[in-house]
Amino acid sequence: MNQPSPETLERLKAAAGANGFSTDPLVLAPHLREWRDRYQGSTPLLLMPNSVEAVSQIMAICNASHTQVVPQGGNTGLAGGQIPTGEVLLSLKRMDRVRGVDALNNTMTLEAGVTLARAQAVAAEAGRLFPLSLASEGSAMIGGVISTNAGGTQVLRYGNARALVLGLEAVLPDGRIWEGLRSLRKDNTGYDLKQLFIGAEGTLGVITAAVLALYPRPRQLETAFVALKDPAAAIELLTRLQGETGGAVTAYELMPALGLDFVTRHIPGTRAPLAQRHAWSVLIEVSSFAQDLSARAALERTLSSASDEGMVLDAAIAESEAQRAGIWRLREAMSEAQKFEGGSLKHDISVPVRAIPAFLAEASAAVEAAIPGVRVVAFGHAGDGNVHFNLSQPVGLAREAFLAEGPRIGRIVHDIAHALGGSISAEHGLGQMKAGEILRYKSAVAMDMMRAVKRALDPHGIMNPGKVLAP
Ligand SMILES: Cc1cc2nc3c(=O)[nH]c(=O)nc-3n(C[C@H](O)[C@H](O)[C@H](O)COP(=O)(O)OP(=O)(O)OC[C@H]3O[C@@H](n4cnc5c(N)ncnc54)[C@H](O)[C@@H]3O)c2cc1C
Repeated sequence: MNQPSPETLERLKAAAGANGFSTDPLVLAPHLREWRDRYQGSTPLLLMPNSVEAVSQIMAICNASHTQVVPQGGNTGLAGGQIPTGEVLLSLKRMDRVRGVDALNNTMTLEAGVTLARAQAVAAEAGRLFPLSLASEGSAMIGGVISTNAGGTQVLRYGNARALVLGLEAVLPDGRIWEGLRSLRKDNTGYDLKQLFIGAEGTLGVITAAVLALYPRPRQLETAFVALKDPAAAIELLTRLQGETGGAVTAYELMPALGLDFVTRHIPGTRAPLAQRHAWSVLIEVSSFAQDLSARAALERTLSSASDEGMVLDAAIAESEAQRAGIWRLREAMSEAQKFEGGSLKHDISVPVRAIPAFLAEASAAVEAAIPGVRVVAFGHAGDGNVHFNLSQPVGLAREAFLAEGPRIGRIVHDIAHALGGSISAEHGLGQMKAGEILRYKSAVAMDMMRAVKRALDPHGIMNPGKVLAP
């Protein structure tokens, strides 16, 4: 790595402005540690510019001096993409202005450092919905969610971050500003350049602002906790519900009994909604845009007929906001609750929705054969074909010994997902965690195209080196 000279560091500080940089270890610390403690980084300088012009100047200096840069938003990424390994760290957190809301056009223009929770609130103030929703939304920022093409719980109906971005402003690695803040739903004027930056994990430039699509707010939400015969019943039930509700299913989250055991055991205030323990359950949410109770009726009708056929074993529909929040808490705490059960190995895979039962059966059998006693906690956005295939260590095994199995187990799980036509990263990205692993699964042609795009935009390789594309 090209270490920036003292003169370069001074020029970068000047470009960031008086309150726009720090070398104080106490200020740097929270920016250098990843949420799950998997990565601990280092940097000679934290930059926190508060305007696109300042970002532009910073990148021009970095480009001329070949100084490498890691962009960072809310530091909630789960693939280590935002953690520097000696590069200059560029935080967008001070670029947090709302540039405008256009309720008639159903769009809002936000800077990269606006948190996702605030973006949702800005939309709500205008009587609109910004549907992207993640458990990390209090900290995750617009620049970060776009750069990771984040998914979350509402993808089934509204798509992932990519589907919600109409325009972008980005600073190229050479410091030029690309003003692509269009608020159009149709614009076929050549290559759709914004798509390059969405999901690029900061390897092609710095996103500084975005035009985001808004939706009407649903008038009613019906939330159900449903016990199922098996994962195949979950997929069949989803198809029927989509048909019965006219595609109004907004969330469909699969949860295993063991995951619910962990949550109710370790997370205060949680309790199982049903009297009996069932191997598989789903959280279902149906949105209604009408004032009537048609969505509720469709939900009840579908659950009732599926119950008659033995697919649904039991169900509870939330009757109050408190009950709804209680059901969601079970789902949202599933990853957190695993921490109390020792070491865990996590995999964020996707397969075609119909292949979820096959994936769960094959992957569970394979990891149980590889590590006897391993505890499978497979849950997630089943409606999107996305399974968080998490494993808790066998009771009594040393934590470090279990975690050391990560690469071997990851390979087993990823090979099975790939063989079923799936992906080794459904929504978290590649970052530094899977930049090497992806070489096994993407074709040589695909990797060549990715490297060609990288070379064209970032010929000196200064943007987030080693992330997405392994050296
Ligand atoms: C509890 C929890 C739950 C989560 N749930 C989900 C979920 O359901 N779905 C999901 O998809 N993810 C989820 N995540 C992962 C994470 O929240 C998302 O990846 C999120 O989009 C990251 O946003 P961030 O602002 O924290 O970005 P960061 O972590 O700061 O950065 C992520 C990547 O984007 C790059 N980047 C950040 N800002 C910019 C910018 N302005 N310009 C260019 N590059 C930039 C970074 O270099 C890095 O590569 C979860 C994380 C946690 C901790």
